[in-house]
Amino acid sequence: MNGSYVAETRVRAAAPTRKVRRVPIPRVWPVKASDFYALLGGNALLIAGMWIRHGNLRELTTPAGIFTAIGELCALYGTYLVLIQLILMSRNPWLDQVFGQDRITDAHRWVGFGAIWLLVFHAIFTTVGFGMGVNTSPVDEAIALLTTYPYVLWSAAALGLFIFVGVSSVRAARRRVSYETWYAIHLYTYLAIALGFLHQIFVGVDFTTDQLATLYWIALYVVAFGILLAFRFGQPIAVTSRHRFRVANVVEEAPGVTSIYLTGRDLDLLPVRAGQWFRLRFLTSGDWYKAHPFSISAAPNGRYLRFTVKDLGDHTGRLQRIRVGTQVMLEGPYGAFTGLARRKARVLMIAGGIGITPLRALLEELPASRGNLTLIYRASSPQEVVFREELDQLASLRGATVHYLVGRRGSREMPTDPLEPRALRRLVPDLHERDIYICGPAGMMERVLSGLRWLRIPSAQIHYERFSF
Ligand SMILES: Cc1cc2nc3c(=O)[nH]c(=O)nc-3n(C[C@H](O)[C@H](O)[C@H](O)COP(=O)(O)OP(=O)(O)OC[C@H]3O[C@@H](n4cnc5c(N)ncnc54)[C@H](O)[C@@H]3O)c2cc1C
Repeated sequence: MNGSYVAETRVRAAAPTRKVRRVPIPRVWPVKASDFYALLGGNALLIAGMWIRHGNLRELTTPAGIFTAIGELCALYGTYLVLIQLILMSRNPWLDQVFGQDRITDAHRWVGFGAIWLLVFHAIFTTVGFGMGVNTSPVDEAIALLTTYPYVLWSAAALGLFIFVGVSSVRAARRRVSYETWYAIHLYTYLAIALGFLHQIFVGVDFTTDQLATLYWIALYVVAFGILLAFRFGQPIAVTSRHRFRVANVVEEAPGVTSIYLTGRDLDLLPVRAGQWFRLRFLTSGDWYKAHPFSISAAPNGRYLRFTVKDLGDHTGRLQRIRVGTQVMLEGPYGAFTGLARRKARVLMIAGGIGITPLRALLEELPASRGNLTLIYRASSPQEVVFREELDQLASLRGATVHYLVGRRGSREMPTDPLEPRALRRLVPDLHERDIYICGPAGMMERVLSGLRWLRIPSAQIHYERFSF
């Protein structure tokens, strides 16, 4: 008998005895991308209005005035982008629903770099503008500002911290540091925001003389931090105290791949869909301070949540030996990689390696009729294939087709890429009539996505989940 089914029996015995109800599906919020853009655009206009109201247009008559006014505009919009960053980092379910994690991560990267550049320009333009006004060189003016102006040294420290965080996020640098180090560096952003705030409120010309502008600016900070605190701390604390998750069973699925079953109170009332993921914080002495993302690997059933973890580093290595009974905090669920994204009745799922986890859950949950579900599971060796028995059983129960493409690319048995567009079309001839769900290693996903573009599959039919941010 397969290990997972042994586990299932044990978990069932440990689960509440009351009748299992249908698991509620996560709420679909009535928000659209255009609502967010309108809100962001509206505030951007208010900021421009504030800058004009403070007489900056009149300053544009002399070179010194032009530099100073531009410097000020850069400070306002640079800070505005920093506050948008806080909201992008808040793990807000509305944003997640509308844009998906991938686009949020992309936006986070670009908004972050935009904010840093604007703040750098603020420092340069303001220093040069002030210097021109009193006929001093930019260097002398910078020294005078740093040594005599209140809060300027603080803001210089803030800018230094922002630049440090930005440099650590450049892809080449990001690859060299562990996720934890990169995350810890990001915490300096909060210190930088606090220092910058004091500088702005106490010496910013837009705020020292205009109470209304000060109130508006403080309100922007309150809203951004409020959203961050509500979703980063409030939501996980509420979900965890409601459901009291703990590890009920740990089952080895394959070498270095383990399923962790969580049970808890009233799991039948936890809204979640197949294809979604949570951030899990295991409350042990070594791991309580880190939350790592994992997709559910079985459709929600109201009795337990199953996560299947591949040993890829420190944390995932320790999870292979996590003790039954360990308490767990959950943040989420997140992700739009669900049946809700579907446009067509027929679905093709393409999994690579541990990317099978959300697709295994989707294979169980998506509506099945007359062979509409097909799964392609790509692995480089037979040992890498997890859930083989489960997948075969699900396929025969649900009338689905599973193709296992196992072998190293370029080897004698697999000389060419079995996922290249023509091979894919041979395997699944009605590709254009299907929604395509993809999850796997970054390289495989890029190749499949570009192949699907080459085949001119409409992008609305393509859905994917990346396992790295
Ligand atoms: C949406 C999503 C769903 C995922 N689902 C699964 C799953 O079902 N099963 C599974 O085995 N893995 C899954 N992962 C990947 C898993 O989160 C990482 O493998 C794990 O966090 C690695 O941690 P580590 O300390 O062991 O390894 P490290 O050596 O620290 O990292 C290995 C890799 O994982 C990335 N990573 C590390 N920590 C995090 C983090 N907290 N957030 C994002 N990326 C991180 C790093 O950038 C690095 O590329 C998922 C990732 C994401 C983003």
